[in-house]
Amino acid sequence: MAEEIAKAEEKSAKKESWFKRVGLTTWILVALVLGIGAGILFQVTDTVDIANRYIAPLGTIFLNLVKLIVVPLVIFSLVAGIISLSDIKKVSIIGGKTIAFYLCTTAVAVTLGVVFAMLLNVGMGYELPAEEFTYEAKTADPIDTLIGIFPSNIIAPLANATMLQIIVIALLFGFGMVALGKKVKPVADFCNSMNDVCIKVMQWIIAIAPIGVFGLIAPVIAKYGADVLLPLLWVIVVAYLVMILHTVVTYSAMIKIFSKMSLLKFFKNQLPAFGLAFASASSVGTLPVNMECNAKMGVSKEVTSFVLPLGATINMDGTAIYQGVCAIFLAQILGIDLTIGQILTIVLTAVVASIGTAGVPGSGMIMLAMVLESCGIPIAAIGLIYGVDRIFDMMRTAVNVTGDAACAVCVDASEIRRAEKAAAKKAA
Ligand code: ASP
Repeated sequence: MAEEIAKAEEKSAKKESWFKRVGLTTWILVALVLGIGAGILFQVTDTVDIANRYIAPLGTIFLNLVKLIVVPLVIFSLVAGIISLSDIKKVSIIGGKTIAFYLCTTAVAVTLGVVFAMLLNVGMGYELPAEEFTYEAKTADPIDTLIGIFPSNIIAPLANATMLQIIVIALLFGFGMVALGKKVKPVADFCNSMNDVCIKVMQWIIAIAPIGVFGLIAPVIAKYGADVLLPLLWVIVVAYLVMILHTVVTYSAMIKIFSKMSLLKFFKNQLPAFGLAFASASSVGTLPVNMECNAKMGVSKEVTSFVLPLGATINMDGTAIYQGVCAIFLAQILGIDLTIGQILTIVLTAVVASIGTAGVPGSGMIMLAMVLESCGIPIAAIGLIYGVDRIFDMMRTAVNVTGDAACAVCVDASEIRRAEKAAAKKAA
């Protein structure tokens, strides 16, 4: 029997087109390389307009489709997850572990950013431009951010894809269904079926991700010439180095400590989400792909559907690193000597600022104002790095989504252990 199944599988694998056999990960990487190559070509031939007019729409169409599916996907997968958990205690334990993981890794991230920015003398070689730099900051009030978690109506959060509010709605309605049990079975069945439909549609959209990645990356690369990049090269290199270090060392350590998953399995399956996040600079836009990657790693649906949407909104390790590195960079080039107290303030505010950062392009830079303000660096100095924000944003988003995925792996493993212990105790 097993032999027959193996033969049938081999036959169907042979039938699969070469296109499918290459696999999504490889196609996304190919698209990334081709997109960067095409971007350089547009840049050197001075045809950026062509990239913006004819290539960028491919990326925009893809991201529009992702945005279309992300809201129903999060709502129904979260509700389906809660129905299957049917236990408020379990959700609060998962929630507690998730938030603890997110806070700890973000604190490590910003500390690494600050320490390496100082060790590598991040402001080295930069010459302040003669002209006045300007940047008008809009800082967010933390109390308003807290109030903003609780929606006053159902439609607005869905229309604006406001993830935290959507999570609150899904939790309330999910637990409402659990409380009423059999009485509302048709509604629960509907949510479960809609969850399946959303996953199917999402898989179709993900299948065209390589085209989207190409359309997103080529115009961005075309836009940045050496004249814009070179003066800021060292700060970009330092930020990228710390982000790579955090991804490889911190996340690997967490996965090794809390789960049995091999690092190869984690990073290999995470590549499509990493590539798409890099190209799109949006955690929320990468959410469906990140959920799919997590599912491929074998992480349970209940954990994925809760941990990843929450992470796309509040867990931003790449952003925290960027904020730490840039705060030190701006202080150095403006000749501001930071005290230990000010450096600690940077670490603390960067953790808070990264939580308040929305998972869309550019929001980490807006929140940088809060970090600078906390330690007396003029906010207008953001104007100096404003022009290359997208280059920072690509990598920080890739790190942000990888941090979410690593957290899901660890929380899932610890939940399995907890369930095994409870079962053993019951049996004894
Ligand atoms: N673009 C980032 C994200 O979506 C947020 C940021 O601007 O740092 O995760």
